Amino acid sequence: MRDLTVEFADRGLLALDGVDLEVDAGERVALLGPSGAGKSTLLRALLGAVPAVGTVRVGGRDPYGRSTREIRRNAGFLRQGDDLILGVSGRLNALMGTVAGWRLRDWCKVLSGRAPSGYADRFAELAARHGVVDCLSARASQLSGGQRQRVALIRALLPAPGLLLADEPTTGLDPVTSAEAVRALHEADATVIAATHDLTVAATFPRVVALREGRVVHDGPPIDETISAKIYQQEKV
Ligand code: ADP
Ligand code: MG
Repeated sequence: MRDLTVEFADRGLLALDGVDLEVDAGERVALLGPSGAGKSTLLRALLGAVPAVGTVRVGGRDPYGRSTREIRRNAGFLRQGDDLILGVSGRLNALMGTVAGWRLRDWCKVLSGRAPSGYADRFAELAARHGVVDCLSARASQLSGGQRQRVALIRALLPAPGLLLADEPTTGLDPVTSAEAVRALHEADATVIAATHDLTVAATFPRVVALREGRVVHDGPPIDETISAKIYQQEKV
C-alpha cells in the first residue's frame, strides 16, 4: 500500500490516513489497534472492497482494477463477526469457502453433504482439528458464536488460499480453541494478515503493525506494554 487513504463519505473522517505498508509473500503480520483504528478497512482495501485513494497492489495486481475477482479468489477472508448463512448447515457454510472454483458437479456433491473433489480429506482434517465435527449437521442458527467462528475459520482455510486475511479471528473463542485458531494461521502456507486487538495474539506474530486513527503508529516486532498502552490510551506515540 502506498499512501492509501479511505474516507467513508457519510462519516467525514478518514478510516485510513495515508497508509504505507509493504508485506512480503509468506509473511505473517498482526494488525493491532483499538476499535475504529482502521484494521478491518485495511483488510478490505486489499480486496478492493472499500472506497480508496492511493495505491494497493496484491501480488503486483490492483484490487481496484481488473484483477479484483482473481485476487479475491486467491484470498481467504475470515470476516469480523461471523457471516454464516444462518438457515443452512455448518457443513454447507464451511464448504462454501471453495466456491470460487466450483463446477456443477461440485455443487451437486456439496448439496448432498459431501466435499467437492479434492477437498474431502482436508475438510475432514480441518473439522476435526477445530472441533466442529459435531456442528456440521446443525443449522448455523443453532450454533454458539464460538462454534460459528470456527466454522467460518475452516471455511477460510479450506481452499488453502495464498493470502489469508483474518479479522478478529479469536473473538468469542475460549483459550483452547483460540490457541488452535492462532496456530492454524501460523501454519497456513500463505501470506497471513490478522487483525486483532488482543495483545497476546499479536505477540505470537513476528511482525506487528499497529494502527491508530487510520495511521500506522508501529511496524516491527511485537510491541511492549508501554507502547501498546499508548496506542490504547490515545496518547502520542
Ligand atoms: P477497526 O476494524 O480497527 O475496529 P474499522 O476499519 O472497522 O476499524 O473502522 C475504521 C473507521 O471507519 C471507524 O471510524 C468506522 O466507524 C468507520 N467505518 C468502517 N466501515 C465503515 C462503513 N462501511 N461506512 C462508514 N464508516 C465506516
Ligand atoms: Mg474491525
